[in-house]
Amino acid sequence: MAGITIRIKELIKLITHLGVFGANRQGGVNRLALSYQDKEARDFLCNWFQENGFHTQIDSVGNIFGVLEIGTSSSQKVFMCGSHLDSQPNGGRFDGILGVAFACIVGLSLKEIIDSGERKSLYRYYVVACWTSEEGARFQPSLLGSRVFSRNMPLEVALNLTDSNGVSVETALTEIGYKGNDITNQPNHYLEVHIEQGKFLEAAGHPIGVVYASWGTRKINLSIKGKMDHTGPTPMDQRFDALVAASNIIIKVNEIAELSSGRMYSSVGRMDIYPNSPNTVAEKANLWIEFRSADEVGLDAAEEELRIFITKLREKTRCSFEETNREIRQVVKFDKHAFNKVCDAMNKSKIPHLKMTTIAGHDALQLQSICPSTLIFVPSKDGISHSPNEFTSEIDIKNGFEASLVAISALIMKTNS
Ligand SMILES: [Zn+2]
Repeated sequence: MAGITIRIKELIKLITHLGVFGANRQGGVNRLALSYQDKEARDFLCNWFQENGFHTQIDSVGNIFGVLEIGTSSSQKVFMCGSHLDSQPNGGRFDGILGVAFACIVGLSLKEIIDSGERKSLYRYYVVACWTSEEGARFQPSLLGSRVFSRNMPLEVALNLTDSNGVSVETALTEIGYKGNDITNQPNHYLEVHIEQGKFLEAAGHPIGVVYASWGTRKINLSIKGKMDHTGPTPMDQRFDALVAASNIIIKVNEIAELSSGRMYSSVGRMDIYPNSPNTVAEKANLWIEFRSADEVGLDAAEEELRIFITKLREKTRCSFEETNREIRQVVKFDKHAFNKVCDAMNKSKIPHLKMTTIAGHDALQLQSICPSTLIFVPSKDGISHSPNEFTSEIDIKNGFEASLVAISALIMKTNS
C-alpha cells in the first residue's frame, strides 16, 4: 500500500502541476474556460487519468470524467467527485484545481483500500468530474458544465453562449478538441472539496468545513423617475430628484444588511443616471440591488422592508419607483442524511469541523438538484481568493485529504460488521 503520506505528497505534486498552466508572474493563473491554457490543463488531466487506470469520457459540453471501477457488478451505483480547472483572469492556484486533484488522489486511495480487501464498496464506479466553465469569467452564467449536466440548462442554450468577442462555447470547445459525445452515467452521489474563499474556518480555528446550505440571492433592478430641471433656480421643495431618491435607497439597502449581524450581505453595485449632467436635476436613476443570505425568510423580509421604505420615499421625494426586473436564487440545502453521515464520521475520527454555509456558488449546488451532494471546505489563507494571493497551506491540504477520505469512505464503503 502506498500509504497516506505518499498519497498526500502525490496530491501536493498534482496541485502544483495543475497550477503551472496559465501561470503568471504575480504567482496566479490566467486559465479562462476553453482557452489554450485550459486545454493544456485538460490534456494533463486526461494523461493523468490514462496513467492511473481511469477511463476518460468527455461529454457534449466538454465536461471531463475519469471513471474508475472500484466495486463489483452487483451494484451499478456511481459516486462522483470533482470540481473545475478554469480560473478567473489573474486568479489563484487553488480554486477548482484543488478539488479536481483531491478527487483524483482520493480515488487512488479508495481503490487501494478496496483492492486490499480491507473494505468493500457499495458503489461500482468512482468518477472524477472536471466541470466546464465554472467561473463565469469568459462565458456567463457560471457553473455552466455542471448546470447542463444537472439538466438545469439545455445543451443547445449553453453551446450558443458567446464570450465578449462573439466566440461561442461550441466553437471554443471544438477549437481545443473537447467537444465530446460521451454519455456518463448519472451519479448517485456527488462530493466536492473546495477552498473556502472566506475567513470562517480561520476564525474558528477549524481545518475543515462541512457545508449544509448555500446562500440565496434576491437581485432587483429598480428604476426611479423624477423630473429634469435646472439645479440652480428650481426651489428645493419643487424638485423631483431621482438621484436623491436613489441615494436614500442605497443607504437603506446597506443598512438592512448592516443591522443583520452578518446574516445578510447587500449591495448596489451599479447605478445609471440620466441625464447625468452637473446642472440638471436627475430625471432617472436605475439601480442594481442585491441581497444575499442563507435565510429565505430574512431575504423576503429585507425585500418587504425595502418596499415599505420606497412607499415613504415616494411621498418625500415625489419620485416614482418601478421594479423592472427581479431574480431569485433560492437557498440550496445539501442532502441532510449525507451531511450527518459525514459529520458523524469526522467526529469518530476526531476531526474538528465547522458546520457552515457557502456564500459563493459551486458546481455541487447544481449537482444537488439531481443527486444527494456534499460540499467540503478547506481553509483559504486570510480568506483571499480570485487573486494571485490565494493560498492553502500543505498542512491544510493534508488535513483536508484525511478528512475527505474519512467522509467519502463513510459514504461509499459497506459498514464493517
Ligand atoms: Zn471554484
